[in-house]
Amino acid sequence: MTIARAPLFAQLVANTNNGFYGQDIISVRQFDRDKLAYIFGLAEEMRHMVQQIGSADLLRGRVLANLFYEPSTRTSSSFMAAMQRLGGAVIPINEVRYSSVTKGESLPDTVRTLECYADVIVLRHPEVGSAQIAADYASKPVINAGDGTGEHPTQALLDLFTIQEELGRIEGLTVAMVGDLKYGRTVHSLTRLLGLFGARLRFVSPEALRMPGELIEEVRARGMEYTEHDDVAEIIGEADVLYVTRVQRERFEDQDLYERVKNCYVITPELLQSAKERMIVMHPLPRVGEISYDVDKDARAAYFRQMENGMYIRMALLAAVLGRA
Ligand code: ASP
Repeated sequence: MTIARAPLFAQLVANTNNGFYGQDIISVRQFDRDKLAYIFGLAEEMRHMVQQIGSADLLRGRVLANLFYEPSTRTSSSFMAAMQRLGGAVIPINEVRYSSVTKGESLPDTVRTLECYADVIVLRHPEVGSAQIAADYASKPVINAGDGTGEHPTQALLDLFTIQEELGRIEGLTVAMVGDLKYGRTVHSLTRLLGLFGARLRFVSPEALRMPGELIEEVRARGMEYTEHDDVAEIIGEADVLYVTRVQRERFEDQDLYERVKNCYVITPELLQSAKERMIVMHPLPRVGEISYDVDKDARAAYFRQMENGMYIRMALLAAVLGRA
């Protein structure tokens, strides 16, 4: 049985002039407001399509290589679901341990191998700059799914999309980022993207996990208003977005330090009593204790909606990069 396509979706045809076709997605620095609006509009259409008909054949015959050198649940599975819902296929290399990487194969050789079989490569790797290295060697598009403590551009896109969807705007909001701002790549990418909108920033972390100087310099250069804190209570009342992060255990050289800071913040229903009625709590997940499970019932807890948005954003990116939107 043939199912009629959603009318809007029918317009998503070959388009190699969309500014994304054949491009690598390495950093949020590649985005301006027009590009964001394009991807967000497309993500909306993807949501409608999935809700109405579940899948489409926009990327039929295309292949994605999903190459993960670090653990992942959401990013990896949402890229796979995104490709499959658009009719494409996936080579899943979620465990490089079972690939020739274990035999000592280099990243450049691995990506040059995969691009013989795939049309696009999604890469997660523990080293900052690895996605750029992969892109330098590959002639097919490479999408950065997290390079160490560097960036996580697709996460930042879905984070910003979530803020827009939940609060209806981005400009003029007060966004508080809480937790491991030093090693958390998602807050690095999100801070950069927010720079395009002039949000007010509140950085809350223990002294040892402050936002890196490079990011603070960028925030200053953009003229954004920001303050640094070590107590969430100081900012909870003014936050429109409370973006909570996990303390990134795997990045610590000093495990004693990790033990000292690992439980630095826990968001509880009691704390949220002092928050605005219309605000949202976000988290890139996984959480390991920094948001209590009781908060999940609060309508302001947006982290599960946030992760669903990830699939729509990744569908939009794949379609755009492969010239089908
Ligand atoms: N999933 C996110 C990341 O890959 C956040 C985290 O791991 O804490 O960066």
